[in-house]
Amino acid sequence: MAPVSTELKGKYVLVINAGSSSFKTQILSCDNEKPILAVLAERIGSDNGRIIFKINPDTDKEDKQAFDVVYKNHGDGIRDMMKRIVDMGILPNFDSIVASGHRVLMGGPNYAEVKVDATVKQVIRDYIPLGPLHNPGNLACIEVIEEILPGVPAVAVFDTGFHTTMPNYAYTYAIPQEYSKKYSLRRYGFHGISHKYVSKTAAKFLGKDNFTGVCCHLGNGCSITAIKDGKCIDTTMGLTPLEGLLMGTRCGDIDASLPLFLMEQEGISPSDMSDILNKKSGLKALTGSNDMRDVESMCEKGDENAILANNIFNYRVIKYIGAYLAVLGGKVDGILFTGGIGENSPINRAPICKAFENFGLELDEEKNKVRSGEPREITKAGSKIKALVVPTNEELEIMQTTLKILGY
Ligand code: AMP
Repeated sequence: MAPVSTELKGKYVLVINAGSSSFKTQILSCDNEKPILAVLAERIGSDNGRIIFKINPDTDKEDKQAFDVVYKNHGDGIRDMMKRIVDMGILPNFDSIVASGHRVLMGGPNYAEVKVDATVKQVIRDYIPLGPLHNPGNLACIEVIEEILPGVPAVAVFDTGFHTTMPNYAYTYAIPQEYSKKYSLRRYGFHGISHKYVSKTAAKFLGKDNFTGVCCHLGNGCSITAIKDGKCIDTTMGLTPLEGLLMGTRCGDIDASLPLFLMEQEGISPSDMSDILNKKSGLKALTGSNDMRDVESMCEKGDENAILANNIFNYRVIKYIGAYLAVLGGKVDGILFTGGIGENSPINRAPICKAFENFGLELDEEKNKVRSGEPREITKAGSKIKALVVPTNEELEIMQTTLKILGY
């Protein structure tokens, strides 16, 4: 990390990463970019919510405290969390917080990372129709933090931001363009904060200024991005995070006629169809579990549905890596793996990497089995195409971006 300016000594950045019914928060020290607190609030909007505080996370002094809570909405949750931070003595007050950084799902084609003002809030509002589950909660978090920390600048870091550099032939859908224009329909891509962090970290690891290659974020949601000279040129998620790979509960690519057929045959409404494709498909539909660890243990027992699901999962990853190697003209620094599956599942990484043996990727089976929280190479020395595992850290990326945007 760069030397800390005197203005930032002893100061903190508050980072909020809100999902559709949850939020993660970290308070990161400007002195060493490490969190002094990590919070996870889950099941917002239900009457069995839970908030978990990890004080000094990932250190030998970690203190974990969990509380049952009922939060009507994200704003409620953020207010309660901030009160608890003082009540629990984690910070005496918020005077040492210099900025807040917020992950926001949808920022449209023009916004990547920006200081929050009335125009930016309006952009977040304008994209609610395309990010109905996330943008309202993201905006609520920003507005409640503004109330609690008056005068403290906030930065919005859009999950679509890293993908705003895609060329028009990668993001345009071939449908009547009057609809595309009227409703801003195009590929936006998601997981941008993660793809940016992981590709920057890989560049540093490889001693390059910028990364060129393929970045695979394989978690509960999955996406692959083609990156040239540090910039996204294509990505598998589309207008929404539904397109592309097979995911925990999302189907990924299917023929658009399929949902239309089912809606007609079964009288299914658009919102129920969206639920089926987003929440009841993917690994869950094929195996009963959306969790890759369960799928792996079912595979070990010979469960045919799990084996099929795992084969589809890996096949699609291989297909898109191959496509993006072609898009990048075959000249790449490497293939990157991140996300819960990408970071922790050698069993899935191995067949994916082996598919590229004839392209010059030589997997090192022993290195592939190593577990570590650090970026690492899993190919043999001299492998023409390198494969790396790079743990993602969206909160750190948001912190660094926030300070950069504010001119620190
Ligand atoms: P994420 O959304 O990045 O938290 O990733 C969640 C996914 O990672 C789930 O499908 C988990 O089952 C998977 N995952 C986490 N740890 C492992 C592991 N050790 N082996 C296989 N999959 C894992």
